[in-house]
Amino acid sequence: MKDLHIYNSLSGEKEKFIPLEEGFVGMYVCGPTVYSNVHLGNVRTFMSFDMVFRYLKHLGYTVRYVRNITDAGHLENDADSGEDRISKKANLEKIEPMEVVQRYTVDFHQTLNDFNFLPPSIEPTATGHIIEQIETIKEIIKNGFAYEVNGSVYFDVLKFNETKDYGKLSKRNIEDLIHNTRTLDGQSDKKNPQDFALWKKAEKYHIMRWPSPWSDGFPGWHLECTAMSTKYLGKKFDIHGGGMDLKFPHHECEIAQSEASHGNDPVNVWMHANMLTLNGQKMAKSTGNNILPYEFFTGKSKHLSKKYSASVVRFFILQAHYRSVLDFSDKALLASEKGYNKLMDAVNTLSAIKASNKTSDFDIMVWIEDCYKAMNDDFNSPILIAELFRIVKFINQINDQQATISPQDLALISKHIKEFVFDILGLKTEISSVTRFEGKLKETVDLLISMRKEARANKDFEMSDKIRDSLKEIGIQLKDGKDGTIFTIEN
Ligand code: AMP
Ligand code: ZN
Repeated sequence: MKDLHIYNSLSGEKEKFIPLEEGFVGMYVCGPTVYSNVHLGNVRTFMSFDMVFRYLKHLGYTVRYVRNITDAGHLENDADSGEDRISKKANLEKIEPMEVVQRYTVDFHQTLNDFNFLPPSIEPTATGHIIEQIETIKEIIKNGFAYEVNGSVYFDVLKFNETKDYGKLSKRNIEDLIHNTRTLDGQSDKKNPQDFALWKKAEKYHIMRWPSPWSDGFPGWHLECTAMSTKYLGKKFDIHGGGMDLKFPHHECEIAQSEASHGNDPVNVWMHANMLTLNGQKMAKSTGNNILPYEFFTGKSKHLSKKYSASVVRFFILQAHYRSVLDFSDKALLASEKGYNKLMDAVNTLSAIKASNKTSDFDIMVWIEDCYKAMNDDFNSPILIAELFRIVKFINQINDQQATISPQDLALISKHIKEFVFDILGLKTEISSVTRFEGKLKETVDLLISMRKEARANKDFEMSDKIRDSLKEIGIQLKDGKDGTIFTIEN
């Protein structure tokens, strides 16, 4: 198979992926700040990396996938002042910060489970790595890139930029940054407004605090990812991912912290997933412009005309490339549901298809190669899905006796459909699949199918049509093929 190429946000180009150690991949993805329920935008970003994780594993790599939980240090407005998002919520609800963390971590896991995510290899928390963060700060101070003022420690961006390149990931230059940042209001301890906090002394009211050599306080938001990625993946690792909105300042600061503490750029390939929008605006917790996952399963949302299954939503998301903006709409989701059902129907049909002695009317080897070509081209899932629909068409032609397939090719299609649809895209056969409707329901529909067959044999077409049409009315569709009649169920 052709080599995997990944778009590296640092170089701005698609690069051939060469892991630092043959056969192994270290991947770090910034996780959620657990102060409220995840919305579908968050899900999209994590799903992009779930697909990356799945594909790397499929290619045979041993992947150590680290995705953290931010449970301290992330202040309002992503800035160095204001309240910690978690303590703010805890104050509001009069509960412990760790109750907030627990509630929304459980919600996060539940949601990802609903969407059939694979768990990461390690899921470290910021509060579980305060010691590592303090050690990183000590290194940065020792190397002359940070300073302490009144119990807080700040990263000296200008000093760093004298010998290194602050802004290389987000393509910002320091002069523009200086020009665009507000001047300090006299209340800040920072030397320059571009500097960012590594450690903040806690005010009296601040409940989330830890002892350190500088003060009782808490780590800056960017620091946890540097400390935890270094701890679990080393000073240099293969892939770092996150949403596009984290590129600056979060990831830019991570690079600076690593270079300042252990001297090298920590990441080989930077990957950024693009945003999910709603009504053309970024889905966000803070603005309320979002849809929560459970709303899809109940259908109770002003943005939805009906309920949808998790696999349909997953299919909708993966129909767009992870680097493109995706705008959510009920109409688009309805179209995805149709596509998803068509794909799953073909998967069902495939299991009932019989091979013939004739050669296949389709070049399966070229199709397989084209599927890999799509995924190897920076995880191009929409092209992969288009390739899957080419095979759907062929499967339906065989079922309608308009095409033939050899036994070897049938085995190859079945194997690759399983791999691409279920292992790599992570879809599940949850709604239109006959197989899900085992037991009494399946027996009942099968009984009606045999009664219809009998009616047709007796030329009682009125009755046979009545059975078919009545089932259709309640969303059960009969499909006649050469091996008999199968049924699918709409959700
Ligand atoms: P947060 O919990 O706010 O730190 O966000 C968790 C992840 O979700 C980050 O990687 C964000 O970049 C990502 N994210 C936030 N909003 C969106 C959105 N509207 N579309 C896609 N990803 C998002
Ligand atoms: Zn991070």
